[in-house]
Amino acid sequence: METKGLGHSSFEILRKARELERRGKHIIHLHIGEPDFKTPENIIKTAYKAMEDGFTHYTDPQGILDLREAISQYQQIYRGRQISPDRIIVTPGAKMMILYSLLVVVESGDEVIYTDPGYMSYRSHIIIAGAKPVPWRLRPENGFKHDPDELKKLITGRTKALILNFPHNPTGVTIDKQTLKEILKIARAHGLYVISDEIYSRILFNGIHFSALRFEDMDNHLFLIDGFSKTYAMTGWRIGYGIVPEKFVQQVVKLQTNTVSCATSFVQKAAIEAIKGPQDSVEKMVQAFERRKNIAVNILREASEINFVEPVGAFYVFPFIGVDSNKFAHYLLDEFEVAVLPGSYFGDQCKEHIRISFANSEENIREGVNRIVEALKRFKDRV
Ligand code: PMP
Repeated sequence: METKGLGHSSFEILRKARELERRGKHIIHLHIGEPDFKTPENIIKTAYKAMEDGFTHYTDPQGILDLREAISQYQQIYRGRQISPDRIIVTPGAKMMILYSLLVVVESGDEVIYTDPGYMSYRSHIIIAGAKPVPWRLRPENGFKHDPDELKKLITGRTKALILNFPHNPTGVTIDKQTLKEILKIARAHGLYVISDEIYSRILFNGIHFSALRFEDMDNHLFLIDGFSKTYAMTGWRIGYGIVPEKFVQQVVKLQTNTVSCATSFVQKAAIEAIKGPQDSVEKMVQAFERRKNIAVNILREASEINFVEPVGAFYVFPFIGVDSNKFAHYLLDEFEVAVLPGSYFGDQCKEHIRISFANSEENIREGVNRIVEALKRFKDRV
């Protein structure tokens, strides 16, 4: 298989940051795509206990029933709708579920719409599944809003699926109920499958998350994606899930059986504790992200040459800097020892944006964002 067009995680900037650190530099990392918090203790203890109890073998490839039941109840609490555990599939990370969804719905030559900017793996997954990625531009001048009229223009006879992500990586915007309704209506009218990646749904600063799952008439066309990585700071545990249309359950289970077999047994037990145990660590984490967001945007607001849309969720801000972000990211790292990701990493249209992550302390965010502002002034003076 040709892998040239796929996104690559050992990204140049990160390699360089590591290299500089080896040489004794202190880099402020504002590129990180995972919570910097520890996985809550109760979850860790549950995993230990499951291991000690001998829960260390293969499980039902669909996921253990206790976890699927817990996930089912979770939907009732956080998405306002209980879903049969039969439609839930537990996977090693949400990312795997996104790929499975595409693999079961697309055929070679089909088109799949995804947002640009957007999470880089979507494009790669569409290519792996043998389909053609079709970017739906979220325009910064429009507050990165998901514009249903622009979506309509992209749909052809070959369009098979649409990937949504809200709250959105890298912009931090979300979709309001009315717009979501309109988007899903368009999808339904064209018989599209919708993959709704709601992995940041608990990391929201204003308002409530209105899930695509609420639209019951989408049940035969909706793949709801979520996971434990962000909400419970469990990126390395590799555990996520999908809620899939009934007719695709067995196909997805077959893919899982023939690839990874199942999600790790004792991690599934820990995930039950994550859902059923105390949620105060989630609340504390979200409050910390919001404080950090406020620090970052207050500094950015003072900088006249930087435009940005204030994030309402996730833990990133994606400002426009008006210069080649790849060159700037290297300059920023070399001269100011701050690592951020260039906008080009998230699609073709945001080459003059950078993604700043809030996965660092308030002190480092304050220092790092101040350095970004200063670096940009100097960079612009140079060119
Ligand atoms: N979707 C989005 C939008 C993400 O940002 C990420 C992680 N960066 C994932 C999915 C992957 O999540 P997981 O760790 O559960 O595979």
